[in-house]
Amino acid sequence: MLIGLAYAMEGEIDSLLKSCGGRMLDDRSGMQIYQIEPGILAYAGGVGKVNAAMSAQRFIDLYHPDWIVNAGVAGSFLDLPIGTVVAVESFVQHDVDTSPMGDPVGFVSTVNQIQFKTSDFEKIQNILRSLDVPFITGTVATGDVFMTPGSRADWIKSTFDPTLCEMEGGAVAQVCLRSKVNFTALKTVSDRLTSEKNSEEFFNFASAMEALNRVVLAAARALRGKKEELNLLSKTIKSFEVDHTTLLPGLYLSRRDGDVSTYDLRFKRPNTGDLLTNSEMHSVEHLLATILRNGPKSDGIVYFGPMGCQTGFYLLSNSKILNDADVVQLVKNACREALDYDGPMPGNSARECGNYANLSLFDAKNAIFCYLNVISDWTENRLKY
Ligand SMILES: [Zn+2]
Repeated sequence: MLIGLAYAMEGEIDSLLKSCGGRMLDDRSGMQIYQIEPGILAYAGGVGKVNAAMSAQRFIDLYHPDWIVNAGVAGSFLDLPIGTVVAVESFVQHDVDTSPMGDPVGFVSTVNQIQFKTSDFEKIQNILRSLDVPFITGTVATGDVFMTPGSRADWIKSTFDPTLCEMEGGAVAQVCLRSKVNFTALKTVSDRLTSEKNSEEFFNFASAMEALNRVVLAAARALRGKKEELNLLSKTIKSFEVDHTTLLPGLYLSRRDGDVSTYDLRFKRPNTGDLLTNSEMHSVEHLLATILRNGPKSDGIVYFGPMGCQTGFYLLSNSKILNDADVVQLVKNACREALDYDGPMPGNSARECGNYANLSLFDAKNAIFCYLNVISDWTENRLKY
């Protein structure tokens, strides 16, 4: 599960970066995206609704988060203590007005609603309770106005009766609604719109964000259900148990799952810096997969594809149809057939392949020639790692 923490300003993320040592992933469009820890990213999308909407959609397109958590400071319509944490139940956009068309004020056409509810509000409240965080719940009015006490603030209060006012959350909520991404928001009170002395109210921005960010990070971790994922991860993948420091090029049986046997066609010795190039991996994949799937025993072939570490390939076969000796012979035959082949590269078109410009029959043959030298006298007795 991936969580995106949506902020307006870089300064709001600072304390998170300092405490967690996050690293920058992307800063295109002037929008800084950081990894705070695995599964939790954060970005500063800019001030106001357009920046908030643009950055939220951009973040969604780039990283496909499961949740977006909007965090930041807000002015309060109630007489709340500065620094109060507010779990947001819903947003309205106070600056949207198509009332001359007969709509109620705040009605957002296209999505046709006034209230933008946050996702699974019960769950968010339970998480905050389990973290022992003091908080209140409330609604937020968003608009492109830096709100100060006065007639505009009074009108918003009487029209929408919100708890807080800020400039981004409602826009992020609308983007998440349309892109079907879970959305929630945690805010901290920076000033009171009810107070005569609003402009004099002392607000220590840095320490308030530091306090809020501790809550946001803990909530994001809880939302991810980190414990469960760690348990899942503790089941080591079988191939990680093979000692890669001593593994030499060859042909090995990696594992059996029911009738499916996985063979390790190791072209290169691991961790020596001698890797298959991307073109070699891709070209060998096209060529050998085509030959294997068109051969006399094609029914027994389940899958053939490259290893991400660039040192070999996996071949999955049906052991009801092909025994170990058959597979060894099949791999040798396929390699020999590939070296004899002089036609066009199979699947060499934009319609058939995701990166057809990166295919080369020469590269494929070069890699296969070296590998065939390694396995030319291989037998099923040598399949064990
Ligand atoms: Zn391809």
